[in-house]
Amino acid sequence: MSLDGPKEFHDQVRCYSTGKGSYDEVMGGIDLLRQAEIFNGIICGISTINHGFPKEIFNFFLAENIKKLKFAKVKSIGHCDNVSSLVISPAQYTDFMIAIFDLWLGLDDPKVEIRDIQSVVSLILGGNKRECIYMGQCDQFVTIYSDGSIYGCDSFPKTDDLYFGSIFDEPIVVRSNLRIKNLRELLEKRKESCRACNWYFICKGECAKDCYEQLDSVEPLNEVCKNLQRYFEYISTKIRSYDLI
Ligand code: SF4
Ligand code: SF4
Repeated sequence: MSLDGPKEFHDQVRCYSTGKGSYDEVMGGIDLLRQAEIFNGIICGISTINHGFPKEIFNFFLAENIKKLKFAKVKSIGHCDNVSSLVISPAQYTDFMIAIFDLWLGLDDPKVEIRDIQSVVSLILGGNKRECIYMGQCDQFVTIYSDGSIYGCDSFPKTDDLYFGSIFDEPIVVRSNLRIKNLRELLEKRKESCRACNWYFICKGECAKDCYEQLDSVEPLNEVCKNLQRYFEYISTKIRSYDLI
């Protein structure tokens, strides 16, 4: 379920073609999933609309008894005319996540799970829990469209470079698609350029879409790295203050 915080934020971003916000229907959907006992948390998009309100967003989810959270910055992928006006900078996203980390730590409630933060904490403590953004294996995440076509992760635009086949093809044909092999090789090259980074053990080159100028870039963007490193350093320093590492 995608829910971008309280109604006043969510309805500005996630609306129907008529302009009507979808908040009420999303909350109704969550009720249905809860009744069926299959509600498994939300993804909250962070954009220019809501990034300045981490406390309000965090408290809203707690008040709604939504305790499994994933935050993700809104990406510009070229499908939609007005998306770029919603995209925030790497520094703004890092500020938001650091504020959420502090709120989560201050709450001290193990039932509240924030996927990104728990991955980073687990990896700093020597565990191996990873989000896709810290796996360095974006070639293993695909999108299946309604016509059965299979493309790379939907963070990327639907382009020929990332067309891997169709659900009507034999799996072996899809798996051996040259474009998947090319993507895997590109990811390996990117990892090579990251290995000297102190945070490689967490980051592994981060998101193949967010961290690079374009699909064939090998070097990550400085601005993204600077903020990723700030984020990892902040969490690591806090954890060190508990004498856990
Ligand atoms: S912070 Fe930047 S340089 Fe370091 S591992 Fe991540 S993407 Fe690579
Ligand atoms: S491109 Fe980004 S969102 Fe997509 S699988 Fe890779 S890390 Fe995850």
